[in-house]
Amino acid sequence: MAIRLAVLGSGSGGNSTLIEGGGVRLLVDAGFSCRQLAQRLHLLGVEPGAIDALLITHEHGDHVGGAATFAAAFGTPIYCTRGTAAAAGFGDGTAMVRTIVADQPFDLGGLRVRPFAVPHDAAETVGYVLEAGGARAGYATDLGHGPGAVREGLRDCDLLVVESNHDLDMLRLGPYPEHIKARVLGRHGHLDNETAADILGDVVGRTTRAVVLAHLSETNNSPGLALAAARRRLDECGRRGTALHAAEQRRPSPWFEV
Ligand SMILES: [Zn+2]
Ligand SMILES: [Zn+2]
Repeated sequence: MAIRLAVLGSGSGGNSTLIEGGGVRLLVDAGFSCRQLAQRLHLLGVEPGAIDALLITHEHGDHVGGAATFAAAFGTPIYCTRGTAAAAGFGDGTAMVRTIVADQPFDLGGLRVRPFAVPHDAAETVGYVLEAGGARAGYATDLGHGPGAVREGLRDCDLLVVESNHDLDMLRLGPYPEHIKARVLGRHGHLDNETAADILGDVVGRTTRAVVLAHLSETNNSPGLALAAARRRLDECGRRGTALHAAEQRRPSPWFEV
């Protein structure tokens, strides 16, 4: 095993993904309460005190909700961009913040981390590619569209966690107020199923073992619709061997490993 990951939970009610590789164990985002994070880690057989780092994508509450409390409770350093740190209020009383810069890779033990910028309506949002033992895992949620630089970052990863937020018709016809619909649909909002599938068709390679669809809306999407859109596109691209899974809000996913 070079890298393995499990999504602790994903959606507008909270996001966090556990990733292990190169002798390092970290969380990408910490959007549940500290107590919830600890409970979900225990379900996966991991002690919260054994987490070496929190990598944060952006300051929205569903990504940082428990970060400062978790960091203080377990002495875990927080890695995030300068913009995210300022917008999240890290640094005021949180001594454990390490500032990172998009496209400047850094090493955590035997794990190489490359943050890359993604288009979202937050201060300075990033996704991540993590590399250890010749394997790579890519992570991108909360993005309004998939520009070339994002696709470049995610291309040919062995494991992928990618947003598939909403079904366009369900969102358009659904109960959200118009200004929220406009925000979600915007270029700095969230990915719909078809755009997510289009990105996957572009980036999933022969070695991509599994794709976890994340940040599914409970109001404007269903796992069946998201999985069907992605499966159709991957099959068209000859990627029938790549496993697909839809992350849930309320419970952790299985482990995925390469
Ligand atoms: Zn989010
Ligand atoms: Zn967000």
